[in-house]
Amino acid sequence: MTVPILRNLADLRALRSTWVQAGETVGLVPTMGALHAGHLSLVEAAKHDCDRVVVTIFVNPKQFNKPEDLENYPRTEKDDARKLAPYDVDAIFVPQADEIYPEGYATTVSVSGVTDVLEGAFRPGHFDGVATVVAKLFMMTGADRAYFGEKDYQQLMLVQRMARDLNMPIDVIGCDTVRETSGLAMSSRNLRLTPEALDRAAVLNRQMRAAAEAARIGTPWGNLRAEALTQLAAAGFGEVEYFDLRCATTLAPLETPDRPARLLAAAWMEGIRLIDNIAVATIET
Ligand code: AMP
Repeated sequence: MTVPILRNLADLRALRSTWVQAGETVGLVPTMGALHAGHLSLVEAAKHDCDRVVVTIFVNPKQFNKPEDLENYPRTEKDDARKLAPYDVDAIFVPQADEIYPEGYATTVSVSGVTDVLEGAFRPGHFDGVATVVAKLFMMTGADRAYFGEKDYQQLMLVQRMARDLNMPIDVIGCDTVRETSGLAMSSRNLRLTPEALDRAAVLNRQMRAAAEAARIGTPWGNLRAEALTQLAAAGFGEVEYFDLRCATTLAPLETPDRPARLLAAAWMEGIRLIDNIAVATIET
């Protein structure tokens, strides 16, 4: 079945009001398109929980801190619609930039704390752009539940914080990261890697799993980090922006996983910035 593609807010609101009148719940899956199995897992979760599902596709200019990244971001709307067809979603909302940010637009949503480190430190302005567009998509769709990937761990924390702080009437649900069989986290940016670089990129997750396992049995984090950086350089990674052990709830740096912990990493492969994160089991004592 072809899914209706709506390009303006009035059409989305008209459709939504028929659902609300029928007492139906609405699930939202916000994306920037170039859909892969990771996005589709969010759609599946939304379909499972909600009567109606809206997938949004909007490459949000405000969350790109580098103009060339925005320019090169893959845009594959026809393919995206084809991939969504088997899921029987109720609408694909593809808003136009001037409806999201009309002339004179002056409001920014900013969440402090969790956004100050890691991605927030390396991508100035990124999380303000995310919070702003997600708040707008929540208001525009009036959804009851929204689905986000743990792949973007800080983003998920930020959206949960924002929804709580602003009393937004929406449940924010986190879903597991979907990976290639190599362990590489699926990402729209992977489309820009050569097949050979894709193979080498899998070393990032492999090193993360090895470090997480060694941390759990008490190896000092400094040693594990140094070993991982050596292996990543050998695999052809360029700059590793961070490869950090952090508290899973506050993101404070940890030396040992003596509480629920997360290993988060960002590294460059052939000019493409890759991020990943995994849970780290608490140290055995
Ligand atoms: P994006 O289109 O990259 O902005 O991602 C849209 C949503 O899909 C976000 O909630 C991401 O966290 C989620 N997502 C991206 N990659 C994956 C993945 N490999 N597994 C699960 N969710 C993902």
